Amino acid sequence: MTDTKTAYLSEQLAELKEQGLFNTIRTIESPMDGRIRVDGEDVLNFCANNYLGLANHPRLREAAKRAIDQYGIGPGAVRTIAGTMTVHNQLEARLAEFKGAEAVITFQSGFTANLATIPALVGRGDIIFSDQLNHASIIDGCRLSRAQIVAYEHNNVDDLRRKIAETTEYGRRIIITDGVFSMDGDIAPLPDLYEVAREHDILLMVDDAHGEGVLGHGGRGIVDHFDLHGKVDIEVGTMSKAFGAVGGIVAGTQVIIDWLRQRGRPFLFSSAMTVPDAAACLEAVDMLESSDELVKRLWSNAEFFKTELRNMGFDTGHSQTPIVPVMLGEAPLAQQFSRKLFEAGVFAMAIGFPTVPQGKARIRVMNTAAHSQDDLEQALAAFESVGKALGVIA
Ligand SMILES: *Cc1c(COP(=O)(O)O)cnc(C)c1O
Repeated sequence: MTDTKTAYLSEQLAELKEQGLFNTIRTIESPMDGRIRVDGEDVLNFCANNYLGLANHPRLREAAKRAIDQYGIGPGAVRTIAGTMTVHNQLEARLAEFKGAEAVITFQSGFTANLATIPALVGRGDIIFSDQLNHASIIDGCRLSRAQIVAYEHNNVDDLRRKIAETTEYGRRIIITDGVFSMDGDIAPLPDLYEVAREHDILLMVDDAHGEGVLGHGGRGIVDHFDLHGKVDIEVGTMSKAFGAVGGIVAGTQVIIDWLRQRGRPFLFSSAMTVPDAAACLEAVDMLESSDELVKRLWSNAEFFKTELRNMGFDTGHSQTPIVPVMLGEAPLAQQFSRKLFEAGVFAMAIGFPTVPQGKARIRVMNTAAHSQDDLEQALAAFESVGKALGVIA
């Protein structure tokens, strides 16, 4: 049926399909893990941000079930109105201790953590210096704030200094960067950004979504990784990636966290994480505090995979983390590569424009601690045969 009111949407959807940019979402028929069942096929999974394999870990499953028996499922209303549950308070206290921060506030997701934090800290007449490759949720948070947004070149501290020097009229200022950039797996030069922020007395905020549970001692995050405790004003994180559940984190000084409890709009106008999510995340903190085994396995798996891909002749870009881009160039080649990998039993996503620039299409490999050595070798064999069949490697 054609409807004139929505014809513009039908046209745009058709256009996306023509350009090969239409998202088709696969259905997962098993728990999220190193091996999963996708659209009826058993495959090795290199798509998920489930870095530590916690999404289906027996300890998290048990913790969530116990918490349901004690507290039920949902929080019932926003925390400022119906009160907050013990489990959420415990989670925030334990996260602060784990990360070595003064205080922590949790949100429903990393996305809402950014939407809450940025507009609470800056507004009209203020300036945000934002890395040009920052995550969509940072960009949206910046726009919501109505502050002036000044994008600086990716990870380029000299360009940031120039942009700061060029702006003379402002109220407050903040520098915001991703910690780990999710498409290339490179890490922000946080110590240099801290120097700039300190010199100019500018707030510094890092979104460590892909570093939470991955970087730092036992997964304590990017601030711990660079030993910048007490120097980065705001560290945003997520519990939807390495922590295997869902939920957003903001760690910082007591005054910032107190302010977010008063003025973070997704905190005031949207209900908290569910009980099983909060309890599962608490268990994840327990596990990470008692052992760094999973984090170590994640990094050794990633190192092995990256080294072997390079030895085969693949271009893995400038990855410094378990995110490994296999650079292929044009989007149709990347899509064909991904399809052939799937036929060979490996689920790894092709990523093209507009998520990455034109001509920089790639397969993005997400390494995890959930893969065995056999899994890695089987996946590498698939990359080698598909790479040769498509003429990507010799
Ligand atoms: C994934 C991601 C988010 C969103 O986290 P969710 O908890 O899934 O909402 C925010 N920021 C960055 C940098 C991310 O990579």
